[in-house]
Amino acid sequence: MTKWVYSFGAGRNEGRAEMRDLLGGKGANLAEMATIGLPVPPGFTITTEVCTAYYENGRKYPDGLREQVATAMAEVEKAVGARFGDPHSPLLVSVRSGARVSMPGMMDTVLNLGLNDATVDGLAAASGDARFAWDSYRRFIQMYGSVVLGVDHHRFEEIIEHVKLDRGAVEDTELTAQDWHRVVDGYKEMVAETINRPFPQDPEEQLWGAIGAVFGSWMNQRAITYRRLHDIPADWGTAVNVQAMVFGNMGDDCATGVCFTRDPSTGENVFYGEYLVNAQGEDVVAGIRTPQPMAKARAKPGEKPMEEVMPAAYAELVKVRERLERHYRDMQDIEFTVQRNKLYMLQTRNGKRTAAASLKIAVDMAREGLIDEAEAIRRVNPAALDQLLHPTLDPKAPRKLLSKGLPASPGAACGAVVFSADEAESRAAKGESVILVRVETSPEDIHGMHAAKGILTTRGGMTSHAAVVARGMGRPCVAGAGGITVDYAGQQLMAGGQVVRAGETITLDGATGEVFIGSVPMVEPQLSGDFATLMDWADKVRRLRVRANAETPLDAETARKFGAEGIGLCRTEHMFFDPERIGAVRQMIMSETEGGRRDALSRLLPFQRKDFIELFRIMAGLPVTIRLLDPPLHEFLPHSAAEIAEVAASLDTDVAAMQRRAADLAEANPMLGHRGCRLGVSYPEIYEMQARAIFEAAVAIAQETGRAPVPEIMIPLVAARRELEITRAQVDAVAQQVFSEKGYHVEYYVGTMIELPRAALTADRIAEVGDFFSFGTNDLTQTTFGLSRDDAGKFLPLYVEKGILPKDPFVSLDPEGVGALVRIAVEKGRSVKQDLKLGICGEHGGDPASIQFCEEVGLDYVSCSPYRVPVARLAAAQAALQAGGVDRTA
Ligand code: ADP
Ligand code: MG
Ligand code: MG
Repeated sequence: MTKWVYSFGAGRNEGRAEMRDLLGGKGANLAEMATIGLPVPPGFTITTEVCTAYYENGRKYPDGLREQVATAMAEVEKAVGARFGDPHSPLLVSVRSGARVSMPGMMDTVLNLGLNDATVDGLAAASGDARFAWDSYRRFIQMYGSVVLGVDHHRFEEIIEHVKLDRGAVEDTELTAQDWHRVVDGYKEMVAETINRPFPQDPEEQLWGAIGAVFGSWMNQRAITYRRLHDIPADWGTAVNVQAMVFGNMGDDCATGVCFTRDPSTGENVFYGEYLVNAQGEDVVAGIRTPQPMAKARAKPGEKPMEEVMPAAYAELVKVRERLERHYRDMQDIEFTVQRNKLYMLQTRNGKRTAAASLKIAVDMAREGLIDEAEAIRRVNPAALDQLLHPTLDPKAPRKLLSKGLPASPGAACGAVVFSADEAESRAAKGESVILVRVETSPEDIHGMHAAKGILTTRGGMTSHAAVVARGMGRPCVAGAGGITVDYAGQQLMAGGQVVRAGETITLDGATGEVFIGSVPMVEPQLSGDFATLMDWADKVRRLRVRANAETPLDAETARKFGAEGIGLCRTEHMFFDPERIGAVRQMIMSETEGGRRDALSRLLPFQRKDFIELFRIMAGLPVTIRLLDPPLHEFLPHSAAEIAEVAASLDTDVAAMQRRAADLAEANPMLGHRGCRLGVSYPEIYEMQARAIFEAAVAIAQETGRAPVPEIMIPLVAARRELEITRAQVDAVAQQVFSEKGYHVEYYVGTMIELPRAALTADRIAEVGDFFSFGTNDLTQTTFGLSRDDAGKFLPLYVEKGILPKDPFVSLDPEGVGALVRIAVEKGRSVKQDLKLGICGEHGGDPASIQFCEEVGLDYVSCSPYRVPVARLAAAQAALQAGGVDRTA
């Protein structure tokens, strides 16, 4: 018989942290904490396999489940010394969901389950506190009613408000046992009316109702959306945890809290979190009362830190904190409850953190000896590093403060105010920067949070939904800005007499919690300290070299600053669009004779030479791959009548002749037309001019700096060996001319891009005449799929959604198809030239998964946009560690 249920804390601990696939993260860690001797209320976990079986069997539970639950429940009863449903001293439980990875706010927990009209009296008698018992009962009906029975939660709030009004009470805490009794009666009546049957009184029925609701919620729309956004497969399923209740709401020696073992925003090594005295469950995150800080050091005047209010429980918690960090060797996000001064642990998991915190924690923990350098490298998500490389607000820039909230997720963001997630999504899709402003967020808003540049809420704390989700997504967030009033109907927000309407711009500083009117200038990030340390460690282990795609001096400098080891792709055509040059470029294109073209090209030569001199100076001593002209010529055509007339005049001809020439150049399918080396074959003088500019610049810089750049001249779009042979001969001839003119020789290489399937399939033939290959995976993806990137946006997202393709192949290299061609080209190329240099220069060069692939097939380098260089360095190090791991075990 399959084992469907695993006990924890009830005399036996059948689970372990490693069993998270089976027990879900929450269940596995509850078992682990119990195993290492931490105080965990006893309970049991129903496995994720039950969830899968449930859906496979048309929503029916597998055989044996009910018996196993009954057995486990009996063990909990024994451990606690109370019986489920016992009218005198009832055992109450919580029913909690927990998938393999935490899905914030996805499936709500039901607390105090087991209460009914009889057991509530038993609880009152056993605890000696009738108010507590009736408060617990009404909480239970409220949670069970909304989570399991689907009753709108506003209906419950109305009833409480009504009783409070009646009693002249402002705070919930002013209500007595009798008041709560009245609330319970009101609830039961309202629920019965809504669902057409009485609120379930039988604890067994309650239990199975809650278990069913957890499994049911795995397939609700919120969960499905979250899984889609986070690439979580539906067949993972969720587990259900049933756990004996402990009570943080039994008086002033009780509390409940949520905290992190280190600061999840900055990574600082301080106990960080919030707690509430005399409260239960999600009161801390619900924002009804203002939670208090944990540590004295973090308390502001007037606040009551737990360290002072409950020194004994706090001291125990500090010990638990150390024990957990030593045990898990990572920052933990924990939930606890104090019942009559006794601490209970209710959850631990690796804490979500900002990119900045993840970096600091990894480096600190390596220094503290909790982990080694290799582990520190593995801990930081390369893609998240991206956030650290982006600008923050310029401290010196003038700004107009609107209001202030909590610094919930750092980084600066600026954009137009929108008040709904749907609008955030639709405006962002049009390329607009938006700031999503909500009173508070819920899981229904996730798509809008994803689309927004930043998130602002007026309610909720540092552990509110908005804060947690924003940190996970890397979106700047200001939460709980209570000074701001949101008027959804009027589509505006107000603060201190100022009004901002939808569509107007605001700026958020997620590091300080400040909100500004208008846009505030930003500054470049700091690349020293922990960042530099981690990069050093990464550089020590990686094998792949990292270069940048850059053509302007600014890009080249940024790339160097980020640690690029050369340029992997300099697109020369970008240099042609400069207003100073476009005239000569057009003259070259429009001229119908070689002589006319050579004239125009000689005007361009000094410009190109200057471009290369600047690049080579920045990259002195490093390799620079320069791609000769690639796009179809018509891209440079004049458009306006004035432009056409100007070119006509420069060529001494008329507008009609110009229009004829333009018609000649027009192509039905330019992407597959007269472009790349096909231009070099038809108009050798173009590549000759470019080669001359390159060699003259290289010689000049070698003489100037004493460190010669190493030009790697790249011929684009080669399909046949002969194309490379012809164009290479032109380049070599120019090199010889320049070197003998100058009496100076520099090392250089001539190679090609592999960006057509035919080139990949005949790579052995091509390698005979080329010194290097650079995989142009943008075009290779287009030509392998027969798919134009510019048109793919209309259907590719649907393909990914339907699972036809696992990912957008323009973002992450398709290992199966495009990758197969890359492998073939690598093998064939190296079979004739062992030391053939191999790189990749498509968009994929900065994508961690694609970099992993490049490591596996043994490329020499990746090249990516300057801002992605650190991402690539870290991803390359992780790939090397992974490859090393395979070798060691082999
Ligand atoms: P979430 O996944 O939303 O964090 P949890 O299952 O962790 O949901 O439950 C939310 C809160 O409910 C916990 O932080 C804890 O305070 C409270 N809770 C859950 N189980 C118990 C229990 N057995 N006793 C007391 N409080 C509990
Ligand atoms: Mg929840
Ligand atoms: Mg929790």
